Amino acid sequence: MGYIELNVLNTGPAQSALGIDLGTTNSLAAVWRDGRPQVLKVDGRSSLVPSVIYFPGDGQPIVGREAREQAIADPEHVLFSIKRFMGRGLKDVASELERLPYRASENERGLIQLEARGRKYSPEELSALILMKVHDVACQSLAGQDTKKCVITVPAYFDDTQRQSTRDAARIAGLEVLRIINEPTAASLAYGLDQRGKGNVVVYDLGGGTFDVTVLSIEEGVFQVRATAGDTHLGGDDFDQRLADLARKAIAAQHGTRVLEDPGFQQAVRLAAEQCKIALTGDPEAELHLSIPELRISWRQRVTREEFDALCADLHERTLTACRQALSDAKVRVSEIDEVVLVGGSTRMPGVRSRVESFFGRKPHTELNPDEVVALGAAVQAHILMGGRRDMLLLDVTPLSLGIETMGGAVSKIIDRNSTIPCEATEGFTTYADNQTGIDFHIVQGERELAKDCRSLGRFQLKGIPPMPAGLARVAVKFHIDADGVLTVSAKELGTGANAHIEIQPMHGLTDAEVEGMLSEGFRNAREDFEARRAADLATELGTMIQATEKHMNAARAGLDRESVRDLEDALTAARAALQSRDPKALQSSRDQFERATLPLAALLMNNVAQKALMGKSLGEV
Ligand code: ADP
Ligand code: MG
Repeated sequence: MGYIELNVLNTGPAQSALGIDLGTTNSLAAVWRDGRPQVLKVDGRSSLVPSVIYFPGDGQPIVGREAREQAIADPEHVLFSIKRFMGRGLKDVASELERLPYRASENERGLIQLEARGRKYSPEELSALILMKVHDVACQSLAGQDTKKCVITVPAYFDDTQRQSTRDAARIAGLEVLRIINEPTAASLAYGLDQRGKGNVVVYDLGGGTFDVTVLSIEEGVFQVRATAGDTHLGGDDFDQRLADLARKAIAAQHGTRVLEDPGFQQAVRLAAEQCKIALTGDPEAELHLSIPELRISWRQRVTREEFDALCADLHERTLTACRQALSDAKVRVSEIDEVVLVGGSTRMPGVRSRVESFFGRKPHTELNPDEVVALGAAVQAHILMGGRRDMLLLDVTPLSLGIETMGGAVSKIIDRNSTIPCEATEGFTTYADNQTGIDFHIVQGERELAKDCRSLGRFQLKGIPPMPAGLARVAVKFHIDADGVLTVSAKELGTGANAHIEIQPMHGLTDAEVEGMLSEGFRNAREDFEARRAADLATELGTMIQATEKHMNAARAGLDRESVRDLEDALTAARAALQSRDPKALQSSRDQFERATLPLAALLMNNVAQKALMGKSLGEV
């Protein structure tokens, strides 16, 4: 097999970079260690971070498990399911907003903003908070070793804007994204499926609130998404609901229906249902148990796996319908599928496993934890990108063709879809009018023949072509896509060397200025930390200087002129005051003043020392 060597970002010894699964329900980081990807653990516990943010009345937002616990006590100030809003406008998510208890608005550019405690947050800022938490936890378990580099996963169906949103979130969090990769690709990588020469893989991902099924083909280590299908409102939560309904009916029969309205009751039922569901994964029978003393409710019922399965039969069926859809879109038959991978916490359910097995007629991969497998795969990719494994192929391909609009609105394709990146291609163009001194280039993306049916990526102009008859100018147009998927287009007139170029970022929701704004916001705390440390350093330095000077004041009074002595005394007074105030500016200026004032003293002391040292030595020895 012919291997293409990676264009590695780093040639030094392999450092670690994080693989991050930024999920709708849970997020997680993994890293390559001891020759394999590993999920980071803190005190032996999984470092899974619930993708939930709580905004307390005062102080910083709280992310993760603690935030999720607040959902019962203070549900109004808890934000979750943020991934659903990434890179979307208010119109795109109208149906989401009906289901979620959020206040949302649009900014002047049509981007969605969520409100908490009267402040508006973009989904990118909120995701950044989750990423920061994941990063903190990761650094903790890496014994304080800090790595800002990461690979982040997104669903295969995420479009450019949603991917760019994810990138922006990482930037706001102060992370450096090496690559954004598809979740199903990551899962396949975690299982090493890239090592097979050729084959078709199905990734079945049932998470907390979403279901995705993806058909991938692998050829020579390169993954391609053939088709993806699913349901953005089908996940573990729906399975919880079935058990919760069971409890609600029984309790309403005993206590009346009013209790069903109580927010505390609603949350408690949801949690009890999830606990029972998880217990049924391990045991054939479990107890659905609800005890709320404040409402004088104490209720329990035994549920068997069969009963639970029957309650959820239609949910299972919906996942299989999506599988059929994905197969038909990908134009592959069940018999042509070589591997099936299970992803997502909900695929721990035995009912899911048995149905998937019988649908595809083969045992799915379940050797790795389904809620860790995406992060593990991201860590594999991160390791490759850090130059750790050079024997692997590049994994990304361009999803759509890229080209230039030519005369009459047609498209001349320069890079074909599914080219592996990084890649480069050059094509020759010429002028169509006599004495034409400039050319407008319009760069488009898409598979259609006419530029107007493709997506416009950008325009630029090449000027300074010397006047000549039409068709004589020789213009080379080069398209270059780097490993991050950033496209640079350059044009050069070969006769004169006139050239121009443009760098095209995939279209994205936030402007650079907005990202910068959030960046400085995000780093405000970091800067304050820096200031505090700087002040502490100055204070220490100043303290030492004061001590040393006090020790030599007698020598100063004896050997220096009056003015210098007064300068020294003034500097000492100012320094003592600055130490009291702890004000960084005062510390800095008094240190500078001190330095100037001690110069004559230093010269005097040095002279003394030199004289002592010179005494008894002949000039030749000096
Ligand atoms: P997402 O990808 O949506 O962020 P996850 O893959 O972490 O989410 O899946 C979360 C879901 O997995 C939740 O609904 C949770 O109840 C469910 N889950 C976790 N562990 C188990 C288990 N042992 N049995 C059944 N469901 C589980
Ligand atoms: Mg997931």
